[in-house]
Amino acid sequence: MKVSQIHNEKKQSLSFEIFPPKKEEDFKNIDEMLGILCECNPEYISVTFGAGGSSNNNKTIEIAKKIKNEYHVEPVVHLTCLCYDKNEIDDFLNILGAEGIENILALRGDRNPNVPAKSDFLHASDLVKYVRKTTGDRFCIAGACYPDVHPESAGRNDDIQNLKKKVDAGTDILLSQLFFDNDTFFKYVDDCRLAGIEVPIVPGIMPCINAAQIKRMVDMCGAKFPEKFKKIVHRYGDDKEALFDAGMSYCQSQIIELLANDVEGIHLYTMNNVKVAKRLTEGIKNLI
Ligand code: FAD
Repeated sequence: MKVSQIHNEKKQSLSFEIFPPKKEEDFKNIDEMLGILCECNPEYISVTFGAGGSSNNNKTIEIAKKIKNEYHVEPVVHLTCLCYDKNEIDDFLNILGAEGIENILALRGDRNPNVPAKSDFLHASDLVKYVRKTTGDRFCIAGACYPDVHPESAGRNDDIQNLKKKVDAGTDILLSQLFFDNDTFFKYVDDCRLAGIEVPIVPGIMPCINAAQIKRMVDMCGAKFPEKFKKIVHRYGDDKEALFDAGMSYCQSQIIELLANDVEGIHLYTMNNVKVAKRLTEGIKNLI
């Protein structure tokens, strides 16, 4: 089923993001992870994809197939374009089509100094346009959006105007980058609506349970820390167990406030941590 249809039918959805484990021994345990995640009843699970030059991208497709065929949950395959040409994208799309995978998250992808960019696709909107032109309505196309503004963007208005181009090119739904301040998200959605962006905008949420990991993510994606969040990291950052409790509690209340304000779903960045996904979804099982 297409994720756009899920969003049409359900007022609020639950979805997860996972990544293909890099270590072979972790990959062997993928079934254990998927089994637990699927018991949490997500409507769909998205699987990340490297910027290019990575054999791990075959694992993305392998995992997506497993999610669909063995766990009967809809997979969304992330597809990056900056380091691929049209022929390579055609190959990926043909494989996904042949496997009956109906959902992609069309991304430009992070710039990677080790993988040279190619010239066919400069922005995610180029990929969206191309997928629509070559495959029509075969795929539901999701796109990424940035409540705290994309770090390369000239500014908030520019970023929203570029997002509008991506949606006008044929994007069906938007999944947001992680953020820690709900008011930023609410304002962002209002501004997107004013700009004429009408597709569902699903908030992406990541619990802060590991200070180093969160710093890395924030450096990379530009998410801003609100004061109340900074206090938690400052106070408990050096105490693993305390940060876990505080981070989970912060995340849980963030999710509850989002749901109470009628967001179109929750997309949880699980970081492949089943304990976290289980505890958070258990806490909202009667809300979605
Ligand atoms: P774009 O939509 O192309 O935007 C990138 C920048 O270009 C923005 O600043 C935008 O304002 C600007 N821009 C866009 N269109 C135009 C235009 N026409 N003219 C001028 N400027 C323009 N990365 C991975 O490598 N693999 C993944 O699996 C992955 N999954 C992700 C999942 C989610 C939900 C999110 C939010 C991000 C993910 N990323 C992933 C990170 C993403 O690839 C990076 O943030 C990347 O820098 C931008 O990708 P994009 O698709 O948003 O790009």
